[in-house]
Amino acid sequence: MEDAFRFADELGPLKIVQIWRPALGLKAVVAIDNVACGPSIGGLRMAPDVTVEEAFRLARAMTLKNAAAGLPHGGGKSVIFADPKMSQIEKETLIRAFAGSIADLTEYIPGPDMGTDELAMAWIKDENGRAVGLPPELGGIPLDVIGATGFGLAAAIEVAAEYLSMPLSGAKFVVQGFGSVGKHVARLLAEKGAVLVGASDSQGGIADDNGLDIARLTTLKESGRALRDHPSGRKLSRDAVIDIPCDIWIPAARPDVISGANVARLSTRLVAQGANIPCTAEAETELARRGVLVLPDFIANAGGVICAAVEYHGGTEASAFGAIDEKIRTNTRAVLKAGGLPRAAALALARERIERAMRTRRWHHKARR
Ligand code: NAD
Repeated sequence: MEDAFRFADELGPLKIVQIWRPALGLKAVVAIDNVACGPSIGGLRMAPDVTVEEAFRLARAMTLKNAAAGLPHGGGKSVIFADPKMSQIEKETLIRAFAGSIADLTEYIPGPDMGTDELAMAWIKDENGRAVGLPPELGGIPLDVIGATGFGLAAAIEVAAEYLSMPLSGAKFVVQGFGSVGKHVARLLAEKGAVLVGASDSQGGIADDNGLDIARLTTLKESGRALRDHPSGRKLSRDAVIDIPCDIWIPAARPDVISGANVARLSTRLVAQGANIPCTAEAETELARRGVLVLPDFIANAGGVICAAVEYHGGTEASAFGAIDEKIRTNTRAVLKAGGLPRAAALALARERIERAMRTRRWHHKARR
């Protein structure tokens, strides 16, 4: 028999709920990890090939990320096992049925993730009253349009640059992935005088030591074209942006892009992680050994989830920017001040907050003898 408690440790998971509605073919799992800081927030993923173990691990990542961000929320994650490329009507039926099935799981607040979007969140809110990442008409703050994550990343970079005594004005930077995160962080760093010397998207890269035109690159991407279509600059293959010497290198595309196999090619002073887990543990250790500062993902890219939490509590776009700026700067400073590997310091910070919150919660007390 499978051991239902195989993930259990001192933090959680509080509940792993399996949902099966044979009449609809709805098969889903909700993993609620730790709610000591408050009800869990985490994405609803629609994918055919996610395991229960992955759902738990993603929920745990959200527990740590939300605590590191200083939010009054724990971590959760849910998965509907299905191909998101179904018809809109089928998708609405499935998601509404899922929302009805989790109505009583008040410790979990869904947000958009792979295969779901703001419309899906609107259906869930309509069914059970709880979702983040909503359309603007329902009080949603469009975090990708306003560039919430890129804004937080730029704030973290500014703090780290001060720590390194590296003026941002004139600093050269490279952005891998020119989407919602990449294009906004590029714009904001350029406003502080930094110079974009290389950028890439899924189709290729482009470089110019004198600086690329960020507004033009953004217009190109938003009209559905590739960065390589930019008339000036050196054209590169997609992965060659790793070889461009710079002061700040920003992964904002995919996981595991820097590994033991290519870390030696990176020549920079600061790696600011916009993407989730862009460096393997081996690469992060090697960068630290070489004196390269790495701003870990769950501190530096928390702008999106902070924005979602502000939305949930009825805040405005302006208050979201204020909260992102304040929380990310404070947390980046705390992690840098702690010394050692920034990821280890960030994990310790998150765990300390969770454990402190757990001590205030009735059912988290160890049994009294
Ligand atoms: P996006 O889809 O808007 O943009 C991704 C960009 O990366 C696109 O330009 C795409 O062409 C490019 N790309 C894909 N594969 C690439 C590769 N191998 N090399 C270079 N470029 C590549 O996505 P996004 O919302 O900007 O998210 C980017 C990363 O940041 C993801 O890892 C995501 O999980 C993470 N993240 C996003 C947010 C957010 O608020 N959007 C928050 C936290 C973390």
